[in-house]
Amino acid sequence: MTSPDNHHPRDFKSLPLQPALLKNLQDLGYQRLTEIQAAALPAIVEGRDVIGQAKTGSGKTVAFGLGLLHKLNVERFRVQALVLCPTRELADQVARELRKLARAIHNIKILTLCGGMPFGPQIGSLKHGAHIVVGTPGRIEDHLRKGNLDLANVDTLVLDEADRMLDMGFQEVLDQILEQLPEERQTLLFSATYPKTIDALAGRVLRKPVKVEVAAAH
Ligand code: ADP
Ligand code: MG
Repeated sequence: MTSPDNHHPRDFKSLPLQPALLKNLQDLGYQRLTEIQAAALPAIVEGRDVIGQAKTGSGKTVAFGLGLLHKLNVERFRVQALVLCPTRELADQVARELRKLARAIHNIKILTLCGGMPFGPQIGSLKHGAHIVVGTPGRIEDHLRKGNLDLANVDTLVLDEADRMLDMGFQEVLDQILEQLPEERQTLLFSATYPKTIDALAGRVLRKPVKVEVAAAH
């Protein structure tokens, strides 16, 4: 277990991120890292699996978003990152933040796939392709089962608000999605709480994870 301390970077510039991403962070007015970012980003950028425990509003989206954008190859028009969120509202929030972070990457396509939305436009968007898919487990699994979505090239999986996903009964659906993902991948799991069920999920889904915990929002 690590917690933020003086050994952690304080600003984005001290991270080995692509210059275009760093420049964009500056344009967005992001300078200092939040605690969870300082604790998690070095391991994330290194490609390690990470379990991050931190409350809402602590800056988790920027932590995993920079990790997946940093290694994304925009020339390769395949789904390279999958972000699973418990609700449509959260998925939309994450997609919005990722689009802000990705402004410096031209032609990047980020697609949201959530339940409660009509299938037609989602299928149309999937035919055009995407680099990043953000969505809720039920709808993602639905598209997988129907052959609309190919996750064979995913090299980053993010489970955002994992505790809420389990509370909502997504365990089985998550397992079905996980079966469709390459074993060779980076997995980042974020959760506000850390009950035994999350520990069990992490044990099955992550490989030698680095665990970072931040008590309160920044
Ligand atoms: P969480 O996922 O932990 O709830 P978010 O990633 O959505 O938190 O971040 C919360 C808010 O803080 C967002 O509006 C985001 O733009 C902002 N934010 C995140 N990191 C930083 C930072 N390093 N500096 C300034 N603002 C930040
Ligand atoms: Mg969040």
